[in-house]
Amino acid sequence: MVDLKGQYEKIKAEVDKGIQDVINSTAFINGPAVKEFQADFEKYLNVKHVIPCANGTDALQIAMMALGLKPGDEVITASFTYVATAEVIGLLGLTPVLVDVNADTFDIDIAAIEKAITPKTKAIVPVHLFGQCADMEKIMALAKKHNLYVIEDVAQAIGADYTFTDGKKAKAGTIGTIGCTSFFPSKNLGCYGDGGAMYTNDDELAKKMRMVAHHGQSVQYVHDVLGVNSRLDTLQAVVLKAKLKHLDEYATARNKVADYYDKAFAGHSKLKTPVRAKNSNHVFHQYTLQLNGIDRTKLREQLAEKGIPAMIYYPIPLHMQNAFKSDRFKQGDFPVTEKLCATVLSLPIHTELDTETLKYITDTVLELIK
Ligand SMILES: *Cc1c(COP(=O)(O)O)cnc(C)c1O
Repeated sequence: MVDLKGQYEKIKAEVDKGIQDVINSTAFINGPAVKEFQADFEKYLNVKHVIPCANGTDALQIAMMALGLKPGDEVITASFTYVATAEVIGLLGLTPVLVDVNADTFDIDIAAIEKAITPKTKAIVPVHLFGQCADMEKIMALAKKHNLYVIEDVAQAIGADYTFTDGKKAKAGTIGTIGCTSFFPSKNLGCYGDGGAMYTNDDELAKKMRMVAHHGQSVQYVHDVLGVNSRLDTLQAVVLKAKLKHLDEYATARNKVADYYDKAFAGHSKLKTPVRAKNSNHVFHQYTLQLNGIDRTKLREQLAEKGIPAMIYYPIPLHMQNAFKSDRFKQGDFPVTEKLCATVLSLPIHTELDTETLKYITDTVLELIK
């Protein structure tokens, strides 16, 4: 699905030198590259604070801990997402309130959020799924009206731009109370292991998140709150610093792939190509088709035989997972999510795909579904 080797070849000199420098200096934890990457990323995002941590799941957990959410508080998020988004809500004893998504953009449904709000609701967690922003302007208006926090899950949309109705733009993750992202290797800005970060414009919250991520420590060996241990390794910061310079190029390369697929599949009665959101650009973490009248399992097998990987993100909605079993939801409650889980198929998309490979992929898909 991704070609991390080809991408590495292009930044090899910088990455290799940076990694060797870290080994030579033995500054494996909190070395200078962590601060440097943090500063570069703050500038790129145009946000006051980036707080690096160990992975995207931790980022979400630390954000919710720093906001002081308490057991019983309700947090609204989409049923059509990666498990991490809702997992941390449950893990902290908060109540995950799952809702349906938009059939075209796959992003959290605004009317569904509004319907799910109760006096116990404390936060909304929109997921910028597959690489484009949820409708943040409407989400922020709802949050303001009901006095809710907004924690953006930016793991799949690092670098995406949201455009407000007045024309102003902001990077995904810098609009809500806190943005949380992941640098898992296959994400758009991926390191060579695990990594993650929180972003915020709120000085007080930034301080709290730093403290929570560092054993709840304010001054060395003084622990004001219960925290966790969650850090970005210096070696990973070196990789991220090198790759951040290319992030916009990476998005452009991914868009070229998406445009090629769009054109090849345009108007096909059995394939629905991804719909672009009106107020966000797309950084195409995934290129996800909706299949119509196609045996998905068989198609995947046939593609695999021809050397083409295709993935199902996500086969089972969260409200139908045993881990999230609750009286609140049952099968049939979120028809859009359930339909997507049964019909989506993601094709390879990354920065190193050439036209020849794309032609082979699209020709093969079209031949197999004829
Ligand atoms: C990858 C991902 C996460 C979690 O990131 P990790 O770094 O793997 O912990 C959270 N939410 C979404 C939507 C993701 O895609």
